[in-house]
Amino acid sequence: MDIHEYQAKEILARFGVTVPAGGLAYSPEQASYCAREIGGERWVVKAQIHAGGRGEAGGVRLCRTDVEIMQAAADMLGRRLVTRQTDQRGKLVGRVYVEAATAIRQELYLGLVLDRAAERIMVVASRSGGMDIEQIAAESPDSLLRIVIDPASGLVEFQARELAFALALDSGLVPKFVRLLRGAYRAFRDLDATMVEINPLVVTEGGELVALDCKMSFDDNALFRRPRIAELRDRSQEDPRESAAADRGLAYVGLDGEIGCMINGAGLAMATMDMIKLAGGAPANFLDIGGGASPERVLEAFRVVLGDANVKAMLVNIFAGINRCDWVAEGVVAAFRELDVKIPVVVRLSGTNVEAGNRIIAESGLPIVTASTLAEAAEKAVAALRTRSA
Ligand code: GDP
Ligand code: MN
Repeated sequence: MDIHEYQAKEILARFGVTVPAGGLAYSPEQASYCAREIGGERWVVKAQIHAGGRGEAGGVRLCRTDVEIMQAAADMLGRRLVTRQTDQRGKLVGRVYVEAATAIRQELYLGLVLDRAAERIMVVASRSGGMDIEQIAAESPDSLLRIVIDPASGLVEFQARELAFALALDSGLVPKFVRLLRGAYRAFRDLDATMVEINPLVVTEGGELVALDCKMSFDDNALFRRPRIAELRDRSQEDPRESAAADRGLAYVGLDGEIGCMINGAGLAMATMDMIKLAGGAPANFLDIGGGASPERVLEAFRVVLGDANVKAMLVNIFAGINRCDWVAEGVVAAFRELDVKIPVVVRLSGTNVEAGNRIIAESGLPIVTASTLAEAAEKAVAALRTRSA
């Protein structure tokens, strides 16, 4: 789960990271009020969306007057901001963050990520801040510094100090950097984050080290024990298909094709999508019903897949081990009875209670297409789609 910049800044500030003074606004009037409360003569109005690249897309505006602040907020609020990190639809700006502007001397990059190969948290830093990590990696890979943290000792002071030296920070900034990095590390570890990115981390004209832009992501599987983080979720920033599925405890990934897929297990999902491609089709999604799915759960899964207007045919491919084909079949039949199924549905069942499952489907008298192998199921789904659109 991702959160907004201002939320990440509030969290990191609690861990000792210095951030600019700021306030959140939902309207131009509130934005102007925030600026007055902050004081000073220059402010930055920042669109809050779950994507970077806002600066070059008009989502970060430096303002000198009350009128400019209200104008910047009015321009951003209620619009969809398209950046190089969003799709063409962009993301809705529902809130703006107003901050005291910072006089920048130098921009650095600092990120904490989970290094899956090392199974440890890794700190990545660079003197080339302000641009994306992908861009830094492409343009100045030599500037990238990495340290891997041992979970037993945590981030130790000398490691942070070494990184500060490698970044060629002035000696006066070294203790500040150590404090900031240790704070960011503790926030990452204590809150089950999967990513903390401070980009840019700036050295100000006044010689302070300030996190000018922050991003945090959290492990969805740990949210149950982080209720205060879970509360920060902003559904307006998510794919509506994916949030509907998550609400029902289903793993769902939206894709661009026309064939809706309902499967169990990620491996089978991959194989099913490959077979659909091989048969000349394209998957509209990947929905994993998980293990031991009840008929009700299958019905809910149908509701989610059919809720996507792109879905023109559906393929149910279940390889039942812990699952039961008869339960899945009951769910499919219930979906036909309770929902308005207007598209062709191909069902391929295999494994536990497969005979009972196939019988339920055959005896239902419903226009459900069945298949006994995955290849056959994929071909039938693509064929059904072609006949329909012919
Ligand atoms: P992003 O484009 O979504 O990553 O948004 P950022 O918050 O990183 O802002 C983009 C760029 O705007 C930064 O790299 C800075 O160069 C600039 N910027 C942001 N805030 C300030 C500020 O307070 N003062 C100045 N001078 N520039 C800023
Ligand atoms: Mn940034």
